Amino acid sequence: MAELHQRPTTLCCCRKVLPASGGRCGELGGAGPGPGAGPDPGAGGRCPPLDVASASNFHCFQLRHLHLDLRLNFAVKEMSGWLVLDLAPVRPGVQTLVLDSHPSLLIHSIDCKVPGSGQDGPVSLTYRVDPFTDYGSSLNISLPAAVKPSRLFQITVRYTTTDGPAIWWLDSELTCSQSRPLVFTQGHSVCNRSFFPCFDTPAVKSTYTATVRVPDGVTVLMSASRSSYSKQDRVFQFSMEFPVPSYLVALVAGELQHVDVGPRSRVWAEPCLLSCAVNKLGGSVERWLGVAEDLFGPYLWGRCDIVFLPPSFPIVAMENPCLTFIIASILESREFLLIDVIHEIAHGWFGNAVTNATWEEMWLSEGLATYAQRRITTEAYGTAFTCLETVFRLDALHRQLRLLGDNNPVSKLQVKFEPGVNPSTLMNLFTYEKGFCFVSYLSQLCGDVKRFDTFLRAYISEFKFSSVVAQDLIDYFLGYFPELKDAAVAQREGLEFERWLNGCGPPLCEPDLSAGGALTRPVQELCELWAGGDPPDPQALATFDLSSWSTFQTVLFLDRMLDRSPLAHEVMVSLSSCYSSLFDGLNAEVQIRWLQMVVRNSFYPDLPRVRAFLHKHTSRMYTVPLYEDLVAGVMKCVAVEIFYQTQSRLHPNLRRTLQQILFQTSAVAANQNSPALSLIPPSPSPSPSPSPQPPQPGAGTTAAIALRDVNVSA
Ligand SMILES: [Zn+2]
Repeated sequence: MAELHQRPTTLCCCRKVLPASGGRCGELGGAGPGPGAGPDPGAGGRCPPLDVASASNFHCFQLRHLHLDLRLNFAVKEMSGWLVLDLAPVRPGVQTLVLDSHPSLLIHSIDCKVPGSGQDGPVSLTYRVDPFTDYGSSLNISLPAAVKPSRLFQITVRYTTTDGPAIWWLDSELTCSQSRPLVFTQGHSVCNRSFFPCFDTPAVKSTYTATVRVPDGVTVLMSASRSSYSKQDRVFQFSMEFPVPSYLVALVAGELQHVDVGPRSRVWAEPCLLSCAVNKLGGSVERWLGVAEDLFGPYLWGRCDIVFLPPSFPIVAMENPCLTFIIASILESREFLLIDVIHEIAHGWFGNAVTNATWEEMWLSEGLATYAQRRITTEAYGTAFTCLETVFRLDALHRQLRLLGDNNPVSKLQVKFEPGVNPSTLMNLFTYEKGFCFVSYLSQLCGDVKRFDTFLRAYISEFKFSSVVAQDLIDYFLGYFPELKDAAVAQREGLEFERWLNGCGPPLCEPDLSAGGALTRPVQELCELWAGGDPPDPQALATFDLSSWSTFQTVLFLDRMLDRSPLAHEVMVSLSSCYSSLFDGLNAEVQIRWLQMVVRNSFYPDLPRVRAFLHKHTSRMYTVPLYEDLVAGVMKCVAVEIFYQTQSRLHPNLRRTLQQILFQTSAVAANQNSPALSLIPPSPSPSPSPSPQPPQPGAGTTAAIALRDVNVSA
């Protein structure tokens, strides 16, 4: 039974997580739900979460279960059906249910059943949709008087949804096999309100089930622990028996086949990709799971499947429970594939089992998952490899800091949103790498990495299937290590926990990465050889054999050379003659960095390579950075030409992003799927596909710098 596993939680306005069943919150305002009647800010003074239309309301209910019954229609790109919510009020006087929704979601009717109330059948309810932000709307449902505290009631919402931000319909030409259309959803952070009406906050978790009807030949997968298929009815049924937040409900449907790669893991992909995907992952998934279990305790989700998605997938990977989504483009870059899959596996403990209760503290998921990922790679591949990968990412963090400035508020671990800000703006390296550094610091404080593993294991055991705030982690840490509490480590001068969480700028300290020296030293020495302004001595160069380097060494070298660009023309000539042919045979992560150097240095002899790369690659991660560089330099006309030649093979969302890059004089990255590093909200807009927003007053160029040079997983 789902209830056995469920540990429902609700977030009080003072940011303490309470068991919903006993949903008492002394600090709650007495006004109750309804427009303008949100809870009192309370002692914490930072709530309600401003990205959730249901913020004034979700803690008034316990969400026990949700069910989706959907029919997928590829011809008109629609999902239609109904949503059933099993709810129980946790306090008296609740008259309105407020859910997060989206203008792309068309509500047909809403009814309610209150078992045991004496009413015969479902009662039709009145509702109203109000604008909320440019990424969602507010669905206000009037509840019948029969709804009473602790008594279960059931809301059914009949609706149709088309092409909201969560739902990506791919025509068959955008798939790898080009034979059938495909659809996938991407809920992180606040997109799933366009998939189904929900409490779209990581603070609320529930189990879910789903019934999905599709045309013949289409396979449906969901982030669920159980599934079944009736061929006769062409119906897929899913059950997620562990509670998850709305953003982790995910679906993909298309021509998908699988191969089992371990006792609890299988690889799914389009037929033309499957054997490559299986060869690349092989038995590694079970090995990584085993290492992770030794470190952090049992894997809680049962299945650990992986589905490879076409290049239109907007990010690198997403930790949907039981079923990681990952972009097929990463298959050719073995070391990145390895890191990305291990990172998503780590989310099985950090992020999915224990979740950040608000998006303002996303580091609780990403920082801890990054730390866990590196513990796994240390055990599986050694300290040197892990240190090299960490150096590469911390380099990127410092690059982002140089772009944004030390005082940029997005560099805080506890970001404070203004109303209407899309939490996706937190998908930046501070969340990952500054969060990682803080967790590493905690590990350092306890003096022994293995002791800290034991602490993390206990943390998961204590908080699994619930949502937490940073204070929960810190209180648990100090309770687990009373000697550290007695030594007042939280107030250690210059390294105060409060400063870690609320200070802008770089991490207060970074872990010792000298164990990676054997791998990072040659990279640094080669950079220094090239830094002189003149082409280096060929004999000195001959001592460096890049063909024997790992991908992370090569990309670290290229990133550092990118930092030094523009370079003298003679240096570029020499670099090209030394490495250009070698890079042709290496993976896309290497190639894109070399081609960015070509573009940033206006090095025309290698321009054909830029063209060939952009004709081949159609993913956001390999096109947007190159187009941005092309537009910023003297090669803009080349970019326009390539865009017109390739646009028919690009997903409409990516096409829109590139059009904005190419044809807007402003540097603002305004696409709904392309988060910019800004805390300034765009103007609210009821349109499902908001048009680009002009720069906001006060949002200087630094605040509007899009994520570039950054390979962000989710
Ligand atoms: Zn992640």
